[in-house]
Amino acid sequence: MKTTHLIIGAGPAGMAAIDTIREFGDTSPITLVSSETPYSRMVLPYFMDGTIPEQNVFTATDDYLRERNVEPILGRTVTSLDPGGKAVCDDGTEIEFDDALIATGSSASRPPIPGIDGESVFNLWTLDDARAVLAQKGGEIAVIGAGFIAFTCLDALIRLGARVTLVEVEDRILPRMIDEHGASLVRSFLESKGVSFRVGAQVSSIEDAGGRKEINFADGDVLEADVVITATGISPNLGLVDGSGIETDFGILVDDHMRTNAGNVFAAGDIAQGPVIGSDRKEVHAIQPTALEHGRIAGANMAGGDAAYWGSLLMNVVDVQKLQIASFGDWLGEGAEVRTVENDSRPVYRKLIFQGEVLTGAVFLGRPDDVALLNDMGMTKGLIQTGLHLGEWRKYLDRYPLDIRRPYVASKAAEKLLEMQLLNKPSIPRGYRQPDPDPKYWEYHDVFVSTITEGE
Ligand SMILES: Cc1cc2nc3c(=O)[nH]c(=O)nc-3n(C[C@H](O)[C@H](O)[C@H](O)COP(=O)(O)OP(=O)(O)OC[C@H]3O[C@@H](n4cnc5c(N)ncnc54)[C@H](O)[C@@H]3O)c2cc1C
Repeated sequence: MKTTHLIIGAGPAGMAAIDTIREFGDTSPITLVSSETPYSRMVLPYFMDGTIPEQNVFTATDDYLRERNVEPILGRTVTSLDPGGKAVCDDGTEIEFDDALIATGSSASRPPIPGIDGESVFNLWTLDDARAVLAQKGGEIAVIGAGFIAFTCLDALIRLGARVTLVEVEDRILPRMIDEHGASLVRSFLESKGVSFRVGAQVSSIEDAGGRKEINFADGDVLEADVVITATGISPNLGLVDGSGIETDFGILVDDHMRTNAGNVFAAGDIAQGPVIGSDRKEVHAIQPTALEHGRIAGANMAGGDAAYWGSLLMNVVDVQKLQIASFGDWLGEGAEVRTVENDSRPVYRKLIFQGEVLTGAVFLGRPDDVALLNDMGMTKGLIQTGLHLGEWRKYLDRYPLDIRRPYVASKAAEKLLEMQLLNKPSIPRGYRQPDPDPKYWEYHDVFVSTITEGE
């Protein structure tokens, strides 16, 4: 018997679910409702800095959806959902379903500061936000919030010709991504590149002043800027489940099959609070890899499969002014055994976090050509993901913390990772879906190539 599927949200989680339902041979009708057209938020910084054209931000064309027998209802928002099998949109349209996936992601949240909704104050979350910021040229930009999202867009803002000041209410930058020492190294490095910082800075109001913006701080200080960008966190888009009986905490609570407490309703991506690798807790990990994995697991189960998820791994990687900054798993390492290594002559810092013989977290900071940085990040992530006991290699890492390769090979982490392949098979490549790709954009590959050859 055919099942009518409803997918709510056309971000990476929703699109991965659609692809997986079809990959599993399920030909049932799918309705896709999304407030926005399908696109990837993660690539917005590359659109903003000119690395990719706007058309490459989108992740599905009408043809792509039609070929997969998906009925799109785009530009509409689901306002309520009855797990009994009915969803209602903001224009009153009612959609019936047998099972549904909530993949509504999250929205940028703004602190209640007087003036924060004024002119020339932008978020950094949607394609419309990116277009609005791009329409501003140069000048001085104040970014309120010095976390991961602000950092993903920092290079683009600098490339737009702006002088940037990052304002952070906590006493250091990247407070939810790297430790205090790492943060101080990043800050010094960026100061040497002309970026300014105000940390421990409580914004009390934002005012218009002669065509510019004035940011007033609680201590009486004032910062002037042409544009203000807020990057102060996100909150999951939970509105549609109000009164539905679907259990929520910070996000929608799901089991290892991405099922909510209503058996025929699934949740995936930024909206879902699900299993975490190596932990009994359930967390929202608002990152792209988690959205894709959640979407694939949910899609497989909606297609009648029995796919269980081992849990997501918290990881954040950003590249600013050719400094790579990354953290994985339990990067703070409170109460754990910690090994750090650095070099005073340049911004290099690594931190490995262990629980007994198991690597549970890591922080990396350095230039791409610094001691095989990128390879080492991949292997370290693999060791954390597999949770392998390192035995005598644990002590080896105390002596040679930069040589992650030998413990990685000796512990057979690569073999374990192959076993851990989601749904026991690689995903089918989605291919290049943009109509009529323009070859002139190949020149942008120089951006990546130059990071490899720099310094030779
Ligand atoms: C600038 C930027 C840079 C980023 N960089 C990275 C990075 O480098 N690495 C990384 O891992 N992650 C990054 N992220 C985060 C990543 O983009 C998100 O984790 C990911 O998009 C989550 O996917 P999702 O499908 O859960 O939600 P979303 O991508 O948010 O998609 C949700 C969709 O649902 C729609 N929707 C919402 N509510 C409703 C409703 N009620 N009815 C119908 N439709 C609805 C929305 O319009 C949207 O289309 C970045 C995000 C931003 C903004």
